[in-house]
Amino acid sequence: MRELIEKLSENRSLSLAEYEALVSGMNPEAAAFAAKKADEARRAVYGNKVYIRGLIEISNVCRNNCFYCGIRRGNTECARYTLTPDEILGCCEEGHALGFRTFVLQGGEGVYKADEICSLVKEIKSRFSDSAVTLSLGEFSHDEYAAMKSAGADRYLLRHETADREHYASLHPDMDFDNRMRCLYDLKKLGFQTGCGFMVGSPGQTAKTLAKDLKFIEEFSPEMCGIGPFIPHKDTPFANESAGTCEQTVYLLSLIRLIKPNILLPATTALGTIDPSGREKGILAGANVVMPNLSPLGVRDKYKLYDGKICTGDESAQCIKCLSLRVESVGFEISFTRGDIIKE
Ligand code: SAH
Repeated sequence: MRELIEKLSENRSLSLAEYEALVSGMNPEAAAFAAKKADEARRAVYGNKVYIRGLIEISNVCRNNCFYCGIRRGNTECARYTLTPDEILGCCEEGHALGFRTFVLQGGEGVYKADEICSLVKEIKSRFSDSAVTLSLGEFSHDEYAAMKSAGADRYLLRHETADREHYASLHPDMDFDNRMRCLYDLKKLGFQTGCGFMVGSPGQTAKTLAKDLKFIEEFSPEMCGIGPFIPHKDTPFANESAGTCEQTVYLLSLIRLIKPNILLPATTALGTIDPSGREKGILAGANVVMPNLSPLGVRDKYKLYDGKICTGDESAQCIKCLSLRVESVGFEISFTRGDIIKE
């Protein structure tokens, strides 16, 4: 294990079999060693800074039916909402006053059309020209992504969810693995800072599929990568599946940091949900981004991808305060800059 972790930290390519050995061989010593190496790698690029992004959950309406997700089309128990452009701009306004210089617009698919997204992005960029806009709104055509880029969007998050075709099909009825990958390559080619990612412990995931995820990250070389534990949602077909663990998520964060030392790597809300100090553990193991919630208080509880989601009751200002204290408690410091990737 030690040799493989050393090899990763020397920035060398690993085979699928080596990645699989790293995943299946996880133990407390290996995890501690990987975390130490990942921490060094991160500090060499980003020092002790942790970037914040204001997350705005713009709609929980979705045309897709992903088996794991609480806002899937088939969930009739979900109270649906869609924020208006004015409400979204209001969230940016509040966030900007609180010091945020990056806004992430996330939501279900098929509500906001590409041209509406473009108008919104233009408006945000004209009002807050010092801020970066990240979109996380699912799959579109190449030309629609190109229009969003021209409108001024800086980054796009689209988790690949799993790099294994069969596993992908078992999580996503009526979605297409090849189209997901096409989207990611288009985004990259168009010049977005592009983020992929996956859930840890999703039903059907194995050391083999995780090895493919790590190999994909090595080859695709994304600017960002979002990973968090799978957490079941009671009104989905995966209600009775078991959740991913904090330990494995934190270990994988370290490995991803070592694969790409300058990657932007969030300690996600799901990680903070599965373990009360999950985000702190994630930061110690190599994560360098946190995403406080800027959505209006009234909708936060409705954007429920999984059960038990934290931070649904706090004002945005309280959310930052709480996260800053958490980040400082483990010796790091929040950075209120745009937080672009630092090129190697
Ligand atoms: N529609 C957008 C945003 C999806 S929600 C898109 O397709 O990119 C953001 C992420 O939440 C998903 O990519 C998924 O990995 C994660 N997610 C969904 N349901 C989850 C669950 N039950 N547990 C943990 N993470 C979940």
